[in-house]
Amino acid sequence: MPQFRSFSRRHFLLAAGASAGASLLNSCAINPPSAADLSPKASALTLSPAQLPEVTTVKLGYIAIVESAPLLIAEEKGFFARHGMTNVSISKQASWGAARDNIEIGSDGGGIDGGQWQMPMPHLISEGLITKANRKIPMLTLAQLCTNGNGIAIANKHIGKGFGLDLAKSGCADYIREMKAAGTPFKAAYTFPRVNQDFWIRYWLAAGGLDPDQDLDLLAVPASQTVANMRTGTMDGFSTGDPWPYRIVRDKIGFLAVLNGQVWPDHPEEYFAMREDWVRQYPKATKAILKAVLEAQQWCDDPQNKEELSQILAIRKYFNVPATFLQGPYQGKYLMGDTFEEITDMSLATAYWKDSRGSVSYPYKSHDLWFLTESVRWGFLPQSILAEAERIINTVNGEKYWREAAQELGIAAKDIPQDTSRGIEKFFDGAEFDPKNPQAYLDSLRIKAIRA
Ligand code: CA
Repeated sequence: MPQFRSFSRRHFLLAAGASAGASLLNSCAINPPSAADLSPKASALTLSPAQLPEVTTVKLGYIAIVESAPLLIAEEKGFFARHGMTNVSISKQASWGAARDNIEIGSDGGGIDGGQWQMPMPHLISEGLITKANRKIPMLTLAQLCTNGNGIAIANKHIGKGFGLDLAKSGCADYIREMKAAGTPFKAAYTFPRVNQDFWIRYWLAAGGLDPDQDLDLLAVPASQTVANMRTGTMDGFSTGDPWPYRIVRDKIGFLAVLNGQVWPDHPEEYFAMREDWVRQYPKATKAILKAVLEAQQWCDDPQNKEELSQILAIRKYFNVPATFLQGPYQGKYLMGDTFEEITDMSLATAYWKDSRGSVSYPYKSHDLWFLTESVRWGFLPQSILAEAERIINTVNGEKYWREAAQELGIAAKDIPQDTSRGIEKFFDGAEFDPKNPQAYLDSLRIKAIRA
């Protein structure tokens, strides 16, 4: 793509010449790349009657973080249209709560038919646990969107206190306990309670010997508010995803204490899920959407496309940040810890299609089980839910659609998992989750808040 390389160079020169000029950086970020600077879109397929989707219209929601890239790229690079979904509307959700509200009403009510979710939101919505009047809205998880790209940022006032992967070893756990004893508890935020980012910070704190319910304050706060509060010193930490950690470091608000890929290598992150009634009504359209998402995930993982991916996500209608905020993380470059040491480690970069464990995109039932088990660990769900886990997972997990879409796309058999379980999961502190025995995992954990 020679035109594209020249675009990158020009962009780099602009950015380099504007080291002190954030406004110029911003202005080049929000100007969409011109058509000539982009690689060609995917060409439309000639679809057989068996493949032709029942509808060409669907409304999908997303949150402006790297997890949404497969949905945005499926639209921008023509993958949705390639499979006959020519009227896909992708709408930015103001918050996770707004996404939940919009899936409740569906597109008929002005909301959405599906989109990007933290886990286990599709299960909680299906069971009526986070919906208005506890209305059950069955959903199907159809693909995992990505792994990695998430971490925990800490405000700069805590530089030198040992914030890193192992809080016990560094003495930082004692520092956090002392803050509580002094009446100024350490305060950290995530964007929605009882889902991914809440789990990630809890796991890390508990592995360091801290009780997240006793030794500090955790709360749900919108991302922009959290960053503003970190700047003014009234928030100490933020469990979040790219591009937020990079923004926080670049704006000298805080530092990146840990990446979740260090805590749990190749962990499950966010998912693509839709209302089950939509999928049931339009199974061919569902598979057309899935095929587009799977192709977009492969496109996103291609090193040749990373620069263009950063440019597309950066534009105003999507992330509205300088593309430089994404270029580094996509190359595995992070400024780590309170020394801001630059590391380059592709195993920690966001992956959309494959990681060292195999498929990123395939929605493993064993990962659904971890999210339900971790919900039990912290008392978010009663322990009795484990007896129902198999029913809930079999109802919500749509791996059957993923498998059919992958086969129809001609994905190599080695890239289609044979088993619905990824097997034993290993964490940095030595803990293991065997999906065959979630109780043994719960028993092995010292810090927990299980309720009957
Ligand atoms: Ca996330």
